[in-house]
Amino acid sequence: MDHPAVIHKTASDLRLPPHWANYEAVRREDVWGMARQALQGLPGGGLNIGFEAVDRHAGGALREHCALRFVARDQPALELSYGELARLSNRFANVLQGLGIGKGDRLFVLAGRLPALYVAVLGALKNGTVVTPLFSAFGPEPIATRIALGAGQVLVTTEALYQRKVRQIRERLPTLRHVILVAEDDGDTDQPGTLDWARLMASASEQFSTVPTQADDPALLHFTSGTTGTPKGALHVHGAVVTHYATGRYALDLHAQDRFWCTADPGWVTGTSYGIIAPLLHGVTSLIDREEFDAERWYSLLEQERISVWYTAPTAIRMLMKAPVELAQRHRWPALRFVASVGEPLNPQAVWWGQQVLGLPIHDNWWQTETGGIMIANTPAFDIKPGSMGRPLPGIEACIVEHLEAEGEPPRVRVIETPDVEGELALKRGWPSMFRGYLNNEARYQKCFAGELYLTGDLARVDADGYYWFVGRADDVIKSAGHLIGPFEVESVLMEHPAVAEAGVIGKPDALLGELVKAFVSLKDGQVASEPLRLDILAHARKRLGAAVAPKEIAFLPTLPRTRSGKIMRRLLKARELGLPEGDTSTLEGGA
Ligand code: AMP
Repeated sequence: MDHPAVIHKTASDLRLPPHWANYEAVRREDVWGMARQALQGLPGGGLNIGFEAVDRHAGGALREHCALRFVARDQPALELSYGELARLSNRFANVLQGLGIGKGDRLFVLAGRLPALYVAVLGALKNGTVVTPLFSAFGPEPIATRIALGAGQVLVTTEALYQRKVRQIRERLPTLRHVILVAEDDGDTDQPGTLDWARLMASASEQFSTVPTQADDPALLHFTSGTTGTPKGALHVHGAVVTHYATGRYALDLHAQDRFWCTADPGWVTGTSYGIIAPLLHGVTSLIDREEFDAERWYSLLEQERISVWYTAPTAIRMLMKAPVELAQRHRWPALRFVASVGEPLNPQAVWWGQQVLGLPIHDNWWQTETGGIMIANTPAFDIKPGSMGRPLPGIEACIVEHLEAEGEPPRVRVIETPDVEGELALKRGWPSMFRGYLNNEARYQKCFAGELYLTGDLARVDADGYYWFVGRADDVIKSAGHLIGPFEVESVLMEHPAVAEAGVIGKPDALLGELVKAFVSLKDGQVASEPLRLDILAHARKRLGAAVAPKEIAFLPTLPRTRSGKIMRRLLKARELGLPEGDTSTLEGGA
């Protein structure tokens, strides 16, 4: 069925008066200044994300209000009020102090969506300790790479994850001084060379004064993937809290009485900025579901938990769209008033599906690890053009640029003024949550900027009404189920297999996942391609990388196409896989 190109906002769509209704007027205001005013700041000056998220409320009217509500299939729900979260995060900050871990030191967290994870992140932030959340579905290799690159000193993880994924890599991580284990049940943990979370927490004081951090002090280190080399550690500062607050207001329309559910895992940037920080800043109750995706469960949670604002991802929406329609028909969501999505292109059908099934359109928005917060969004303030990522939020200037530099030169760009012309999406630098560097890689950081513009690495276009439309990535990075995967990291692990001579990894379009990871390998002399060998290579990759990162498909090729300088031409592998024109092959080894 053909749908109109625009979903007009009507008064009946808005069950609460939104924080803004006039796009142009609010964009003229100093929203960063207003957001900073809404925050408290530390006694004696300074700014700290943990303090603003928790202690600001714990000392006031929201002390007894539920901050985090954890649900799981076979367990009673567990709620932490703002007051309890303040006391627990104080305890953990004291635990860190007791271990000699202070401001600027680095803590990694590898856990499912457990209360301890949230307490550890917030306590570390209050202690001025820089936090890196890791995705719990990572295998040992991505975990080791990131802790080593980030020179992590403390790791908080569960006993089960430690046994399965960390113990075997521990000796490769000389900086890691302390490993704190959380028991999955209520018992104690007992692994040589580790500390027990419950015991440490029980003996720590509930009193703690937030370490005086300034807006420019480092707070979070999020790893992201590039086309080549190791993952990049994007460093974020405590001042990012201003963006978290402003975007919670303007992009997610959070109001104090909301019950909010962000389905992203806290091991990724969305799960930190919007699964932990932004909702707490707004004093709302956040739902945290400990279980994995299940269509019936999700519809029930939306209903029973009376979720009012829901932030999810295109892969999840596609999975709901695929589930039998009767599942949805068994439920009603009278409390739901705003739905948003991020991470991958959201096709117009999904926006309309929201309108038809949930009774609300889905508001796509765009941002990335480096931006620290939502930059471009569909919001309550204006009509939706399904398929578009929306318009730049207040405080954000975006444009589309073309590159002028010659190969190897620093970026030089020209803004494309004509609407509907494709180019690279760029943002004017200076928003509060802009990353402040790639760890130990200043040269790579500098390559992200051309003068005042931050270059996002995404291709897009902007229409005459100022709506942005995603076109694709400018690089070879893969987006699978919303997770950014670096082909190089996968190729390196494939090459460790004794039979593999070379590997090239691409993102293959997939109806559910957006893209799936597909690997092409050529074999060493004397090795013969066979189904058992293919399965063996797959198993090796899954064990080392984890299911979220490992290839779903592997194909054998006699040799892989390379440039004359020896780089594998992933672009060509992809074109051949998809039956597309091969484009310029003049740099192909042995080519024209
Ligand atoms: P990450 O840094 O892992 O959050 O991934 C960021 C990347 O995801 C962006 O650079 C885009 O390539 C992609 N992305 C994020 N949001 C959207 C969106 N709304 N539409 C299309 N692609 C998106």
